[in-house]
Amino acid sequence: MFWLRVSQRGRPEYNRLIVQTAALSCASDFEGNLSMDYVRQVLERLHRSSPAQPEYYQAAGEILRNLQPLLEKQPAYLHEAIIERIVEPERQILFRVCWTDDHGRIHVNKGYRIQFNSALGPYKGGLRFHPSVTSNVIKFLGFEQIFKNALTGLPIGGAKGGSDFDPKGKSDTEVMRFCQAFMTELFRHIGPTVDVPAGDIGVGAREIGYLYGQYKRLTHRYEGVLTGKGLAWGGSLARKEATGYGVVYFAQHMLREKRQDIVGKTCLVSGSGNVATYTIEKLYQLGAKPITCSDSSGTIHQPNGIDLAVLKQVKEVERGRLSEYAKRTKGATYVPAADYPQDGHAVWRFKADAAFPGATQNEVTVADARALLANGVTCVAEGSNMASTNDAIDVFIDSGICYGPGKAANAGGVAVSQLEMAQNSSMTAWTFEEVDARLHAIMEGIYRQCSETSKEFGNPGNFVMGANIAGFRKVADAMRQQGVY
Ligand code: NDP
Repeated sequence: MFWLRVSQRGRPEYNRLIVQTAALSCASDFEGNLSMDYVRQVLERLHRSSPAQPEYYQAAGEILRNLQPLLEKQPAYLHEAIIERIVEPERQILFRVCWTDDHGRIHVNKGYRIQFNSALGPYKGGLRFHPSVTSNVIKFLGFEQIFKNALTGLPIGGAKGGSDFDPKGKSDTEVMRFCQAFMTELFRHIGPTVDVPAGDIGVGAREIGYLYGQYKRLTHRYEGVLTGKGLAWGGSLARKEATGYGVVYFAQHMLREKRQDIVGKTCLVSGSGNVATYTIEKLYQLGAKPITCSDSSGTIHQPNGIDLAVLKQVKEVERGRLSEYAKRTKGATYVPAADYPQDGHAVWRFKADAAFPGATQNEVTVADARALLANGVTCVAEGSNMASTNDAIDVFIDSGICYGPGKAANAGGVAVSQLEMAQNSSMTAWTFEEVDARLHAIMEGIYRQCSETSKEFGNPGNFVMGANIAGFRKVADAMRQQGVY
C-alpha cells in the first residue's frame, strides 16, 4: 500500500516513503527522485480511479512533474496530502440536456460543470460547447483553470463546464432552446459568490445572452452570475478582447527580457475565434504582422498579413468558414485540413518569428514544435489551453526560446471576467482604457511571477515551471490554511 499519509515528524517518515516507493518501477521522468516517485504514484492512482481521461492525465502530469524542486523544499505539501487533494475535483455535476430543434425533433446532450477548487474564491471558468466535449476534456480544463486563476492574483477558484452540443449549423432559435435547457439544470449550482461561468469554444456573446436570460427567468434575480455579458446588461468593456490582447502583452514581456521587441515580428496565429481574432488585432496595434489563421477545416496563409476586417465580417458577423475568407481577400492561400502533414498542422509550417496558438488543445505536436524552431520562431505564447503536447513543451524549453504556457499567457480572459464581477457587485462600469490598463498590469504581474519563480527554483526562463510552481503554491497554501475539507 503506497497511498501514504506521511506524518510531520520529518526524515524518518520520509525514509519510509523511500522504502515504499523503492519497490515500484520508475518512469524515466521521475527516476531516482523521491518527490517525483510520489507524484508518479498520484498519477498512477488517477489512471485507476478515473479511467480513460488522457487529456486530464496529460494536464496533471505536466503540472505535477514541474513541482519537484518545490516539494523538496517544502515537504509539508506531501505530509498534508495536498497533491492527492488537488487532483480530485471538489464536485462534478453531470446532467442531461433535452431540447427540441426547429423541426420538432427532440435531442439529448450531456451537460457538465466541474467545480474543481474553491481555495482562493468562488469557482470560475468557462463553458465549452463542442462535440469533442467529454468529462475528460472538462476535467483537464478545470484543473488548468485552478492554477491560471491563482496566477492572476485575483480571488477566484477553478472550474469548467460545457456540453457535447455543437452550435455549428444550428439556427439561433435552436441555440437558444439548447442554452435554456442547459441553464434549467445549471442554475441551481451557480451564483455570483458560488460559481460564475463564462464562455469558451462555442460559447460567445449569443450563448451567454441566452444562458443569462434563462437564469434570470428561473431565479428572478439580476446579478453577475455569468461573465462575457452584453455591454448594456452588465458586461465589461475589453472582456471580448482580453484573452487575445493579454497573450500579446505576455509575449511582449517575454521578448523584452531577451532585449527583443514584438514590433516588426512576423507571426503565426491559429484559430479564428475570439482568442485568435483579438490576438491578431493586438499584434497589428503593436506593429507586428500576423500571416496565418485557421479553423477546423483549414488554414489561411497570407504573407501580406491577415485582413482583420474581412476576418471579423466572415467569422463574427456571418459565422462563416475560412474557405469563404480566402475567396474574399487578395494574396491568401487556403490549405484544407485534408492536406495537413501527417505529424501536425499546416499553420506551424511557415517561416515566422513568433507563434500564437489560439484554437484548441494539443494543436502543437512535437513535429510542429521542431518545425517552428527550424523556421526561425523565437517566441511562442499560447492563447489556447494546453496548446502543446508535453513532448512539444520539452522541445521549446530545451531550445531556450521564449515560451509562455497557456495557463500564464491566456489568463487575461479570466482576469477581466473577474473585473466584470467586481464591476457588477459594485454596480459600476469602467472605461475600456481602465480595464485594458488593469489587464496590462495583471499580465505583467503573471509574467513576473513566472520569471521570478523560475529563477528561485534554478531554471531561469522556464516559464512552465515558473507558472506551475507559482500557481500551485498559492492554492496549496490556501488549502493548508483552511484545514482538511
Ligand atoms: P472560439 O469558439 O471563439 O474559436 C475556436 C477556434 O478554434 C475556431 O476557429 C475553431 O474552428 C477552432 N477549433 C476549435 N476546435 C478545433 C479543433 N478540434 N481543431 C481545429 N480547430 C479547432 O473559441 P475561443 O477563441 O474562445 O477559444 C480558443 C482557445 O482559447 C480554447 O482552447 C479556449 O479554451 C482558450 N481560451 C479561451 C478564452 C476566452 O476568453 N475565450 C480564455 C482562455 C483560453 P471551428 O470554427 O472550425 O470549430
